[in-house]
Amino acid sequence: MRKKCTSCAVNREINCFGVDSGSPDGCVCQCKLCRAHYAMFSRCQDKSTHVIKRIKVCVEWQDRMTFIRWAESHGWQPGLHLDRIDNSGDYSPENCRFVTCCDNIRNGDRAKLAREQVILIRLLFASKHVSRTYLANLFKVSIAQINNVISKRSWSNV
Ligand SMILES: [Zn+2]
Repeated sequence: MRKKCTSCAVNREINCFGVDSGSPDGCVCQCKLCRAHYAMFSRCQDKSTHVIKRIKVCVEWQDRMTFIRWAESHGWQPGLHLDRIDNSGDYSPENCRFVTCCDNIRNGDRAKLAREQVILIRLLFASKHVSRTYLANLFKVSIAQINNVISKRSWSNV
């Protein structure tokens, strides 16, 4: 449904998120971009891993319209997700890109590795030329998964 977004006042595809305690108007009908902006902040506040790693939203993006302008000029489309390139880095223009849901899967620790990849990860790590973060980005899995592979907590039979 296309309608005026209650946050940025632009006519866009919107979702109604029902009653939101953070909204003075009660009902929140936001476009997906405003929602992405809101979600960025709530992830930094709610998700324990974000808080522990002190991941934050860069100063520039504290302003929603700056974020929206960036998103629109960087290939955002409905259905794409904001992905941090360096998982331990902040939300900033340098560290973010838009990906389809399946590229983003490493954030959920659900990506599966194949046997050959496990062998390769261990070889690369043993070479001492690459970091765990580099491997996580390369294989699109979490650093926790890389740690498990290296320590043989997972794939112990390989
Ligand atoms: Zn909006």
